[in-house]
Amino acid sequence: MKRRIAILGATGSIGRSTLDLVERSPERFEVVALTAKKNVDALADAARRTGAKLAVIADSDRFGELRDRLDGTGCRAAAGPDALLEAASDADWVMAAIVGCAGLVPAMAAIEAGKTVALANKEALVTAGSLMIDAADRNGATLLPVDSEHNAIFQCLAGSRRQDISRLILTASGGPFRELSIEEMRRATPEQAVAHPRWSMGAKISVDSATLMNKGLELIEAHHLFGLPSDRIDVVVHPQSVVHSLVEFVDGSLLAQLGSADMRIPIAYTLAWPERMETPSERLSLADVARLDFEKPDFERFPALRLAREALEAGAGEAIVLNAANEIAVEAFLRGGIGFCHISRLVEEALSKIDSPAPRSIEEVVALDGETRERTSLMVSESCC
Ligand code: NAD
Ligand code: MG
Repeated sequence: MKRRIAILGATGSIGRSTLDLVERSPERFEVVALTAKKNVDALADAARRTGAKLAVIADSDRFGELRDRLDGTGCRAAAGPDALLEAASDADWVMAAIVGCAGLVPAMAAIEAGKTVALANKEALVTAGSLMIDAADRNGATLLPVDSEHNAIFQCLAGSRRQDISRLILTASGGPFRELSIEEMRRATPEQAVAHPRWSMGAKISVDSATLMNKGLELIEAHHLFGLPSDRIDVVVHPQSVVHSLVEFVDGSLLAQLGSADMRIPIAYTLAWPERMETPSERLSLADVARLDFEKPDFERFPALRLAREALEAGAGEAIVLNAANEIAVEAFLRGGIGFCHISRLVEEALSKIDSPAPRSIEEVVALDGETRERTSLMVSESCC
């Protein structure tokens, strides 16, 4: 039987990699639904190629354009938030690859419908991790981590008992500014920040990799996915991005997952799970890699990592504020409104103003996310960066 799949965020970097794998194996997969924010051309092309049943554009103003582009294809066009939820609820397997907290409600819809959810959208877990894990348990949904580090850990844990795990070690490439001084980072441009040395990704996660906020978000993501406290999740900088993360067991053994820096490998693991499937990814030549370096992260040059750990230890409200302030600050940096070093400063300022209790529902999460966005946007417009 073919696996019926939906891809939320089908036009993004993860979405396109997922489509690439799915289109290479039409005998294994049937595409039920695809979604995008506003790129009608890319969405309609993907829907035509894959024979998708439903294509959803989040931006309702573009509905007419999408409907016209899909005329005569047998693919239904839809738009807006409710249509996104519909796209998340019909397939057996759902790729959650919308960027940012905007992906939370659709990802929750897939979980509440008891689906197998491949989760790339780390901001959803950062803002509502406990609620998502509880909902998955309640509804019999399966969460499969797509983020390369978490997917690596998930692979290393196969067949292990929880009580045998000692700690998790997340690897970080260090990003494009690993060797820059604070002075040099102050002058960094958006073009330099998105030029990641190892991975090709969307703009937001690329900037997060440059500040190391990405690793900070991944710390919180790992805490929720694997149920370990902050002091049992370490981060080590590994510039070659060959070892994608490790698990240390109580006997002192370390297991690692290695591979080329190609997201199609972790995505394929979630697509075929619990089996494996072929990918076109370049095979790793260890002799060509030659050496693997590891170093401690520098919290002074990269304060975002410290802020994320503090937020994880402080509570669920702090993680929401950290994420929302970061999303607004990264958007401001990408449009040239603030300098690179102001991203972490704005996040720190937003965290210093938090006065809400930890949210107990998705509605409360969305409300705190919205308030923090407004407050941080105001800080951006008032800051003389
Ligand atoms: P991207 O910017 O390339 O793509 C984002 C997708 O989400 C697009 O299809 C876009 O149309 C859609 N989208 C954006 N805003 C939306 C909104 N408000 N409503 C509905 N749809 C919206 O991002 P990406 O690099 O593919 O990353 C997607 C997610 O996966 C992020 O959470 C990121 O952190 C995570 N992730 C990405 C990578 C990677 O290699 N790119 C690796 C690990 C994790
Ligand atoms: Mg990652």
